[in-house]
Amino acid sequence: MYDNTRPDRYFTEEHQAFRQSLRAFVEAEIIPNVEAWETAGRLPRDLYRKAGALGVLGVLYPEDLGGSEGDFFMQVVVGEELSRCGAGGVCASLGSHSIGIPPVVKHGSAALRDTFARPVIAGEKIAALAITEPGGGSDVAALRTTAVRDGDSYVVNGEKTFITSGMQADVITVAVRTDPAARGAAGISFLLVEGDTRGLTRTELTKMGWWASDTAHLAFNDCRVPASHLIGVEGEGFKAAMMNFNDERLFLAVQAYSMAQACYDEALAWAQQRRAFGQTLAGHQVIRHKLVDMAARIDAARTLTYDVIWRRMQKLDPLNVHIARTSMAKVTATDAMKFCADEAVQILGGMGFMRGTVSERVYREVKVMTIGGGTDEVMRNLAASQLGI
Ligand SMILES: Cc1cc2nc3c(=O)[nH]c(=O)nc-3n(C[C@H](O)[C@H](O)[C@H](O)COP(=O)(O)OP(=O)(O)OC[C@H]3O[C@@H](n4cnc5c(N)ncnc54)[C@H](O)[C@@H]3O)c2cc1C
Repeated sequence: MYDNTRPDRYFTEEHQAFRQSLRAFVEAEIIPNVEAWETAGRLPRDLYRKAGALGVLGVLYPEDLGGSEGDFFMQVVVGEELSRCGAGGVCASLGSHSIGIPPVVKHGSAALRDTFARPVIAGEKIAALAITEPGGGSDVAALRTTAVRDGDSYVVNGEKTFITSGMQADVITVAVRTDPAARGAAGISFLLVEGDTRGLTRTELTKMGWWASDTAHLAFNDCRVPASHLIGVEGEGFKAAMMNFNDERLFLAVQAYSMAQACYDEALAWAQQRRAFGQTLAGHQVIRHKLVDMAARIDAARTLTYDVIWRRMQKLDPLNVHIARTSMAKVTATDAMKFCADEAVQILGGMGFMRGTVSERVYREVKVMTIGGGTDEVMRNLAASQLGI
């Protein structure tokens, strides 16, 4: 595998210096605690503050809000280095700001940005994004949660589910229907709802993987939200949600091939020391072939993802091509993760079935990556429609 810690056409000295400080942070502050956080079902608030102080939460945000205004390859560094802990739940929880806060930063008023985005970037508050409803997540235009204007407030009623960081979030960016009469994508808006809003009930959900990340069902019963908490223009939330999904999908692609890499690293180390039939596992050609197949899939997914990001930064493609290639990058990367998790568990043998190995954990986290942020099927539908297939 090539060394992605050196400057090249994608990463500058600055990216790689940040990578080194983040790598040290992950090794000192995260890896020793993963098992405890998996058991606890959430991350300690202190971790957000430490990550905020290191600049991990602000790489894409403006400097006047405490961010560092990096390019998307800075976010790639964040995704790749956090994933070295081999626990998707840690990445999902620590990264929930990256889906919850961009609408506030891009479309919110100065007051919303200052009051809510700034402390999230500093790690003092936790953010979440709430779009999916019990009635369905793929068909966003069909969402039913309503926000009806009443004087200086919106009154919110409805339910959201599978919300990452939903139990702990102080700041929740919620997709609502502000015009109940409007059908489909029209009439959808983003509203910022504070975690302690009266009438908001949160219920913790238990799940197959991502244990270190809390996931919640949210019920809104006559929640009064100040009208000033409207994010952007009323009725224009659908388009903002779709662009938000696009960046989320690129980030999920990074996380997926990086988790595949974590499986590969564990399987390689195991194969080089474990002995069977008079030689190491890696001495058997079948095992070497498995490792090469894993490396090839990781390389293909990573190269595609880098290229999609690079071409966007160079403004080389029209938006439809960028969206289609982002969808394809997510599917390619999650396919690589699926393949590598399966082969890594196989190479580890019985040990791969045991709690405590990275491969066992990542194997349980494959499905959320092929479902969350847009399912495999929805990604292929989107790529086809954008390319006019
Ligand atoms: C751990 C976890 C964390 C999550 N975090 C968040 C979060 O923070 N915020 C948030 O808003 N959501 C979150 N989600 C929700 C996630 O984005 C949705 O689960 C996802 O978008 C799919 O929606 P759904 O589960 O309702 O499935 P559905 O939309 O009901 O789809 C079910 C199946 O039908 C298929 N399908 C649907 N439409 C079509 C079609 N047109 N053609 C072919 N097949 C189709 C899907 O691909 C899928 O296989 C999270 C989910 C999980 C599991």
